[in-house]
Amino acid sequence: MGAPGAGKGTQASRIAARYDIPAISTGSIFRQNIAEGTPLGVKVKEIMDAGKLVSDEITDQIVADRLSQDDCASGWLLDGYPRNLHQVSALDEAGHQVDAVISLLVDEEDLIQRLLKRAEIEGRSDDNEDTIRTRMQVYTAETEPLLQTYAERGLLVEVDGEGEIDEVTERVVRELDAFLSGNRGELDA
Ligand code: AMP
Repeated sequence: MGAPGAGKGTQASRIAARYDIPAISTGSIFRQNIAEGTPLGVKVKEIMDAGKLVSDEITDQIVADRLSQDDCASGWLLDGYPRNLHQVSALDEAGHQVDAVISLLVDEEDLIQRLLKRAEIEGRSDDNEDTIRTRMQVYTAETEPLLQTYAERGLLVEVDGEGEIDEVTERVVRELDAFLSGNRGELDA
């Protein structure tokens, strides 16, 4: 988890590669469908460009389908899902157990700068200033409360997301390994 621009997508693929599991990004799945002009892409384009959340009905189904594929049998990393409390329940009810929730912490001023820079480099249509503002608001209102939910479940691993990309990846892997071996220790005891 992390606010828009925190580096979720970049770190998710790198971390998943380290643990040899697929990184599943709902945002990427939507962007790919838009690029290919699929019916799903047509349906979600406007809402995505506005910086709002795609409906839970659509998103939950996509994630459930993706997690049931063979390559997810021994683990997965979700990037950008769940994003609201309803999606947390949907993931629980689908029987998918979460081992850890990584939260990338980045200063809010830095976030805006990162997003505006990404808009220039990648040309993402949801990286304009109005949309960025909406996405920040959606994150604060809908997604941030999930941090408490997962903290209460003892699953939250907060990691400093500032600095070079490699540095952040190393930090995440180190803290995640420590967290997971700590939990395993508790289970063994
Ligand atoms: P991201 O790449 O994670 O920043 O997602 C980009 C956009 O895709 C979001 O602003 C939403 O419009 C949509 N999206 C991605 N994940 C979800 C989700 N879990 N629920 C609803 N909409 C999502």
